[in-house]
Amino acid sequence: MTNTAKVVAITGASSGIGEAAARRLAADGHRLFLGARRTDRLEELTAELTAAGGTADFQRLDVTDADDVRAFVSAVRERHGRVDVMVNNAGVMPLSPLEALRTEEWDRMIDVNVRGVLHGIAAALPVMRAQGSGHFVNIASVGAYEVSPTAAVYCATKFAVRAISEGLRQESDGTVRVTLVSPGVTESELADSISDPAAREAMKAYRAVALPASAIAEAIAYAASQPAQIDVNEVVVRPAASAR
Ligand code: NDP
Repeated sequence: MTNTAKVVAITGASSGIGEAAARRLAADGHRLFLGARRTDRLEELTAELTAAGGTADFQRLDVTDADDVRAFVSAVRERHGRVDVMVNNAGVMPLSPLEALRTEEWDRMIDVNVRGVLHGIAAALPVMRAQGSGHFVNIASVGAYEVSPTAAVYCATKFAVRAISEGLRQESDGTVRVTLVSPGVTESELADSISDPAAREAMKAYRAVALPASAIAEAIAYAASQPAQIDVNEVVVRPAASAR
């Protein structure tokens, strides 16, 4: 462990970007605490990271449940005595046109993508304030900057994550740093949550050019590795061959 090793909690670490971030940050010597609902995946990942000499633990986490997120952050604190970086990464993207009225999917996106991030802030902010430092890395999307058909609600949730992150940054007196990482199309399981047949088909072409999840992990690691006086606020990472 290096003397810049941090205690990093990651939500949604069971696949895609969260999993890649766990691998990248563990390789840097940070101490990881991973959350998601699929604990079989987390168990495998933590075993792998630990076998490679890293420090990683996990706990089942549903970010839509504020108590669950509070218990998750408490577990990190009990294990390591502090929480240096909270990566609010968990997200879902069941795209569909508004007129399909998939209201349960709208609610799920709001619950996971927006409330989940707020629950992460509510749980970790008091801990960071008490310890005198901390860093939120919130995962938004290029959809936090532009809207496209079938993605109105998803983009709304990511615009919200961007607004919340900027508000948190403005309210901070330097104790708490805030980074918004906004990926373009990235290889992951995200599109699996699309149940609308037309939106699912359209996504195949849209997602043909994609970044590896490790590219986003790299951006997270960059932000997390900055010295205390440097606050990297927004990072947008797109595939070079993609205009959007
Ligand atoms: P994945 O579907 O691979 O990963 C999503 C993660 O979120 C999983 O680990 C999943 O774990 C977790 N998750 C979903 N619902 C919940 C919940 N209720 N509680 C806790 N964890 C939950 O997709 P990505 O890695 O791509 O997604 C990560 C983030 O990146 C998301 O916020 C997404 O919006 C964002 N993003 C991704 C892009 C892409 O192209 N891939 C582009 C722009 C942004 P589990 O199901 O085990 O709970």
